[in-house]
Amino acid sequence: WDSEHEVIIIGSGFAGLAAAVEAMRKGAKDVVVFEKMGVYGGNSTLNAGQACFAGTELQKKLGIKDSAELMVKDQLKSGRGIASETLLRHSAELGPYIYQMTKDCGCVYRDHIITTGGTSATRSHQVVERSGSGFIRPMLDTARKMGVKTFIRHKFEHLIRDNSGRVIGIQVRKGYHFGHEESGELINVKAQRGVIIATGGFGYNINFRMAQDPTLTAEVGCTNAKGATGDGLIEMLAAGATPVHLAHIQSGPWASPDEGGFGYGAGFSLYNFPHSIAIDRNTGQRFMNEIADRKTRADLELQRRDKDGNPNPALLIAPKHEAQKDPSMHNVLKYNVAWEFDSVEAIANHFDVPLAPLKKQIDDWNGFVENGEDTQFGKRMDAGRGIKLTAPFIVQRLWPKVHYCQGGIQINTKAEVLAAKTGKPIPGLYAAGEVTGGIHGVSRLGGCSTPECMAFGVTAARSIMEA
Ligand code: ADP
Repeated sequence: WDSEHEVIIIGSGFAGLAAAVEAMRKGAKDVVVFEKMGVYGGNSTLNAGQACFAGTELQKKLGIKDSAELMVKDQLKSGRGIASETLLRHSAELGPYIYQMTKDCGCVYRDHIITTGGTSATRSHQVVERSGSGFIRPMLDTARKMGVKTFIRHKFEHLIRDNSGRVIGIQVRKGYHFGHEESGELINVKAQRGVIIATGGFGYNINFRMAQDPTLTAEVGCTNAKGATGDGLIEMLAAGATPVHLAHIQSGPWASPDEGGFGYGAGFSLYNFPHSIAIDRNTGQRFMNEIADRKTRADLELQRRDKDGNPNPALLIAPKHEAQKDPSMHNVLKYNVAWEFDSVEAIANHFDVPLAPLKKQIDDWNGFVENGEDTQFGKRMDAGRGIKLTAPFIVQRLWPKVHYCQGGIQINTKAEVLAAKTGKPIPGLYAAGEVTGGIHGVSRLGGCSTPECMAFGVTAARSIMEA
């Protein structure tokens, strides 16, 4: 062995950092986090900084009634019969603990809680930075202050197992540079208690993702960090772990075709969906409940086509008087991800939308707001706070991008990795976060990955410290 640690964590996203903090809380003396990229945080930094928790102090303060039970119910519905009720419940019940833990680490939440799609209670807590980095930075600082050793440019290559099959260490490429697969020096690191794999998803591994879903070609955009290449998943498969739901790869319905990556438009549309309408450019009509679950919306958005079958992205039309409350409005206008119009005519002209149906649609929508009921698509009207759609308008285009792998490696409620042949845990091996699968089923609800990654990171740390 070249070196030795009590607990080894691979990956520095939500799952890895939550595991690191919790392991220290449970009395670990020597925890190490290996990150392959040149920066910490991975994909976890690339989102709107939202986390769904049920039963927090903040919800109570705002008069929102919610429970872990209700959250699980919403998630099971979106999972369309193949989500794991046990794992969802385990994660939802840890929500208030995670909320407090992140606050203890120095994460600061806004007072406003957001309604994300497919939820029957308003529960998406958002950090003031409106970005996942608002979680990552304080958690990384806290972990280090507690004594966790962290290394960038250390790429996990292989698990090392003893004759009984127990994971006793890993092989790491020290001094690795992303894109140069042979860079750095291979070292063997011993794990006294065990290894936690928190390497995230495979959204950027185009071969692997196309093997699961051939429609997700290189032409489909991706919101992920470049390091989301499925390394941990592939290595655990080689060790005999159970793959689950790998073909269920989620596209984000809030993405804009007018910028690359996760982008500014994502946060802006997330803010605006509750009180805005999404319009098909051919018909001038709505085509979905703008706060339905992600899969429902992404599938419907992908069906927006011109007469030749080419993509014809939908328009999200928001009232400026509400949209301007979101600080990302500045950036979406500056970078031409959204545009301002002072009349319905101007929108119709610019985007070649039939005017009369669009006008009627806006009138109909304002009628729904007045009556408190969306008779067109059944959208929860309380989410939009009774705001009418009036000029001036801010309009952005919508076209989904690959965002999240619901599939991955199967774990149990102890975050132990289960072997495909026996269904039993592989000793010494734990996994948490997007690298795991089967928790959310067909469609994961917005804001539900952050708390789940952290809940299973915490769980893996507890299990490893108890083992
Ligand atoms: P999660 O949200 O599940 O925690 P993220 O994608 O945010 O997942 O974080 C996973 C992290 O793991 C990323 O920072 C990624 O660069 C890192 N990672 C992926 N593969 C490896 C590897 N082979 N070795 C070390 N780190 C890795």
